[in-house]
Amino acid sequence: MELSGNIKSKLSAMAEEYKTQLPDRYDKIMEAFRLAHTSTSAAELNTLRLLLHKLSGSGATFGFTELSVESKKMVRYLDYFLRSNKFPRKEDWEKFETLLQPLRRICVPDSAFEELEELEEVEKEIKRDKAFVFKESGESKIVTVVKSEDLSLTEITEQLGYFGYTINRISDIDDLEDDLKKGRKKLLLVHVNMLHKDISFSVSIKRLKDKYKDFFSIIFISASGDFSLRMEAVRTGADAFFAFPFDIEVLVDKMDHLISYSTEPPYHILLIDDDPEQIAYYAFILQQAGMITSVATDPEKVLQILVEAKPEIILMDMYMPKCSGLELASIIRQQEAFVNIPIMFLSVESDMDKQFNAYKFGADGFFVKPIKPEHLLSAIKTKAERNRALRFFMERDSLTGLLNHSNLKENITIETLRAKRVKSSLCFAMIDIDHFKNVNDTYGHPVGDRVLKSLSRLLRDRLRRTDIIGRYGGEEFGIILLNTNGSNAKEVMDEVRENFARIKHKSEKEDFFVTFSCGISEFPAIDDPELLNVAADKALYVAKESGRNQTVLFSNG
Ligand code: GH3
Ligand code: MG
Ligand code: MG
Repeated sequence: MELSGNIKSKLSAMAEEYKTQLPDRYDKIMEAFRLAHTSTSAAELNTLRLLLHKLSGSGATFGFTELSVESKKMVRYLDYFLRSNKFPRKEDWEKFETLLQPLRRICVPDSAFEELEELEEVEKEIKRDKAFVFKESGESKIVTVVKSEDLSLTEITEQLGYFGYTINRISDIDDLEDDLKKGRKKLLLVHVNMLHKDISFSVSIKRLKDKYKDFFSIIFISASGDFSLRMEAVRTGADAFFAFPFDIEVLVDKMDHLISYSTEPPYHILLIDDDPEQIAYYAFILQQAGMITSVATDPEKVLQILVEAKPEIILMDMYMPKCSGLELASIIRQQEAFVNIPIMFLSVESDMDKQFNAYKFGADGFFVKPIKPEHLLSAIKTKAERNRALRFFMERDSLTGLLNHSNLKENITIETLRAKRVKSSLCFAMIDIDHFKNVNDTYGHPVGDRVLKSLSRLLRDRLRRTDIIGRYGGEEFGIILLNTNGSNAKEVMDEVRENFARIKHKSEKEDFFVTFSCGISEFPAIDDPELLNVAADKALYVAKESGRNQTVLFSNG
């Protein structure tokens, strides 16, 4: 009882404090809005969504219900674009702005209108910039190439296009500075010859590198691997140096690494407690540390939440009215899919016997309340980190890092169930590399392995983050395309197929090309996970029979 009153006063103090942060939060959202508005990548859109999502969660926690409801509306609005991989058009942003109004009213009660003016400027800019495009599949990654007469560089940039890179050619290095100033990362590809063209060139590169460090990455391409050339490159601040002949994939690997904005996605914790105040308190602590929280006050909802929200760790109270924490833990562990999800208990119970008992029931940790927020966070972080690493090894194929066969199949089942409930569509695509045996026989198994890796990389680059990709076995891959109908799936897979066919693979013997065939089945036309599999396989067979290097959508006819 005492504790509850305590928490209440803490919470109301927190709520007051929260209120004072609202203008600031609103500003951050506006800033993200501006970036998303002018950007051509989904990353900014995701950031904006995340901020709104957080505002919705924290608003709810601290009793700002209207704020929470309004921001949730906007989250849903953005979700539509993110899910369908469309970028909001001008009219869509206008609609978004009207959704923003209530937020401004609540967060910044007497806000001025300066922002509107700034927005108009942004709009003008967009009108000028005709190159406002968003890739239908995959996010666009940009590499800036310094123009050079060297044809080898042209060939490379063409290949990079197949890996989802957008090429931006410039002749003056200093043009990059504007973007760098705005905090945008830049990746530069330069032919080493350029260093000899004019002295000011290397001086400029060096200056930018010194000033912007990790935000400015430079890769040198060279016809030879001479020590002196490498030395020169290093002196101007090169992050990498590639001398011909090299494997395009190794270059892409390096580029992905250098350009990666994406830090690890936030940890997702499920809180189970029948007391909403406590949930709010702990959710607040976790959210402040950048984690995502799902909450359940009713134990009966837990299994559904586990399937839908896919949290990575469960933090639950030991004592609840309907069932005890230990009983709930047993129920969770009975489901094969959740045998390994870490469960951590929170309790005022300091009795060692009881704690020991909890471990017997499959607990992965035990916290005694009150616990210092920093201790809770550090324990959860450590657990989440390990859990991710472990899961990666258990669920992934070691060659490609994609989901393994059993996990992919499990996902098909889960996703069809979900699609059924929310009445959305999905597709399952099966890929099989054409004449792969020949590749192995002609160029050797290790070269074959590289081809498999290049395909898995292409799939990851070219498909949406929400699509689920697995290695089905040998030279076969399976992809679950969420919220996608058959004809869209065919379009997407055809684009991947065409890109793959253009990748030049290297071997000691010669350069060569490889193709694949693809079969697709569609939910809800087929509404059983097993049959989806069979149908995709049949469609794949048709694709092979009709000459390979093509995509076939399963039809009953
Ligand atoms: P099709 O166009 O009909 O699919 O012809 P295919 O040669 O691709 O089909 P087949 O099933 O006859 O051969 C598949 C080959 O894939 C045989 C096997 O050696 C090779 N393979 C399977 N797994 C791996 C792997 O992990 N690495 C390598 N390098 N090859 C693999
Ligand atoms: Mg095969
Ligand atoms: Mg094959």
